[in-house]
Parts: sequence; C-alpha cells; structure tokens
Amino acid sequence: MYSQRLQKLTPYVPGEQPQDRTYIKLNTNENPYPPSPRVTEFLKKADATLMRRYPDPLFSELRSAIAGRYGVSPGQVFIGNGSDEVLSFAFYAFFDNINGPLLFPNYTYSFYPVYCDFYGIQYTKIPLDKEYRLDISAFISRKNACGIIFPNPNAPTGIAVSLEKIRSLLDQFPKNRVVIVDEAYVDFGSTSAVSLIDDFPNLLIVRTASKSMSLAGMRLGFAMGNEALVKALFTVKDSVNSYPVNSLTQKIGVLAMKDNAYYNDITQKIIRTRERFIRALDTFGWRCLPSSANFVFAGKPGISGKKIYESLKNQGILVRHFDVNGLRDFLRITIGTDEEMDKLTAVIRQKLC
Ligand SMILES: *Cc1c(COP(=O)(O)O)cnc(C)c1O
Repeated sequence: MYSQRLQKLTPYVPGEQPQDRTYIKLNTNENPYPPSPRVTEFLKKADATLMRRYPDPLFSELRSAIAGRYGVSPGQVFIGNGSDEVLSFAFYAFFDNINGPLLFPNYTYSFYPVYCDFYGIQYTKIPLDKEYRLDISAFISRKNACGIIFPNPNAPTGIAVSLEKIRSLLDQFPKNRVVIVDEAYVDFGSTSAVSLIDDFPNLLIVRTASKSMSLAGMRLGFAMGNEALVKALFTVKDSVNSYPVNSLTQKIGVLAMKDNAYYNDITQKIIRTRERFIRALDTFGWRCLPSSANFVFAGKPGISGKKIYESLKNQGILVRHFDVNGLRDFLRITIGTDEEMDKLTAVIRQKLC
C-alpha cells in the first residue's frame, strides 16, 4: 500500500500549536503584534467574489510590491506558500549530488535535512565554532559541494554573520553552484544579503512574511535572486501546483509589503523587549547567546533544558526545547510582548535561577 519512498521519510516536526489551553506561546517565533492595520481594514470589507477565480499564477502585483520594497526587479522575485515551500522548490531545483554534498551548519533549521532526504540530496553538516557562530572559513575550505544553505541569523542560535563574510564566501565558492541565505529573521537586527544578488547570480535570498510581518497563518514566503534562478523555481512550481499562493494571501501580502512604517515600529519594539529580557536573564546567571532574531537561545547552567521546558509549560508558558546532543541545555524562547516576557521573567525568578 505504501511506496518505498514513503517508508524512508522522517518528517519535520513543527513546534506545538496547542488547542487545549491558552499558553503564553513563545515556542514558534510568531510575532506578538498583529499585521499591518491596512490588512485588518482590508479584511473588514473584503469581497468574497475574489475567491471565485483562480489566483494569479505569476503573482504579478505581489512580486511588484516585493520588488519595490527591496529594490530589486519583479523578475528577480519568486513567491511561495510559506518559505518552507520556497525552500522545498529550491532544494529540488538547485541541489543534486553531482558536485558533492549540500553544505549546511550543524546546528541549523531542522527542515534542511528533511528536504535532502525527500529529494535524495546528500549533505554534510559544517560544525559551528566554539561560540556557536557559523564557521564561514570551514564552508569555504570545502571545494566539493553542490551548494550551501544557511539561515542568517542562524536558527536556533540567533547569531548573525556579517555581509562581508557572506561576500567573501560567495567570492570563493564556485559561481555555478547555488548559495541560499535563509533570511527568516533578518529584520530583527542583521544585514540582508539582497544587495549582492546582482553581483552573484548564484545567490538566492529566501524570506518569510511569517515572523517579522506577523503573517504566519497566511503562509507567504518569497525568494530574491537572479532571473534565471527565479525561472527555475517557476519550473518546479508549475510542475507541482500552478496556484500555491491563494488570492487572499497575495492581496494581503501587497498591503503588508507597503507598510514599512508599521513594521519598523513593531520590529524595533521586539528588539527592545529582547534586549530587556536578555539583561534579566543575565542577572539570573543564565547563559544567552547574542541574538539578532526574535528569539533567544538560552539556558541555565546546572538545570537541564528539558526540566526548564516542563516547568515553564506547567506554568502556562510554552517555549521550544530541542532534544538533541549539543542543544539539550538550551531553550529557544520567542520574544513576545513586554507583558508576556515579564510574566516569564517572574516565573524564572521564582523557580529557575
Ligand atoms: C520559520 C522559518 C522558516 C519557515 O517560514 P514559513 O514561511 O512560515 O514557512 C524558514 N526558515 C527558517 C530558518 C525559519 O525559522
């Protein structure tokens, strides 16, 4: 009854989305603030006849809005049903085993090895350095590779790498192999590499509206890169599903992309809350990696990560724990509102420091 392919699959496990009780939910890096008020206004008056038609398979209006926001051309933009779908198409389009394995960091977004197994792509994990930073020179020294992918800032560590380092990696990596920078969290304080796409036709930037744009439920992701890369992604899309991005998501995406002022405002708020929370953790003797994301990766020496996770869950606060060697002593804690973080801080002060 089941294909041999299926029997070999080990799927990605997303963070819990509990439906049974209300938690202070700091486990999946969602934004604590609503999307742009323009989105709310639009939804109040939305016309259901929009749904009668198929959505635009070329995403024309949304691609223009994204191009305008990031200073690229619409032909350099691809759209998908969440960046997970964009990543999936990109793995299919750009990586095979001809020139060697795909390189990504150990540790990183745990969906990457899942796509590799799904598409039969071999991979090699490049260890982080002692401070949990990406080791760019270790990537450069690997000449046998079909491509490279890493998030910037990395997940779940939250540590960013500079634009100069990315440029030097691209300078030294073969130009006929794709490098993907997954910028899911770049808006929270690091520098995008989108300015490099004209210099490096093998660079693909992947973005999501889920985190900094508060649209996780709409499922909107996109990529920016050379037109030939975008064309390849369309070839994959049109071999799987002509209409992966629904018309409502496309419309809302356009409105959100044009409201820079609102998004700058909530992003700055989240950064301020993060810095305040890190200072509190410091005073409690916690260890916290330097974060450029909307989460922190932190732990308390002497208390296991699992114990902290369970203790917080009992108190109605959900964070993410990765039960794998090397990460076990940390929790990934999404930055919520000041009120939410104050409640978490109070629980830590009482029970976990
Ligand atoms: C959240 C996340 C994604 C996926 O985002 P969606 O657009 O919601 O699919 C991709 N990459 C990284 C590193 C992430 O943390």
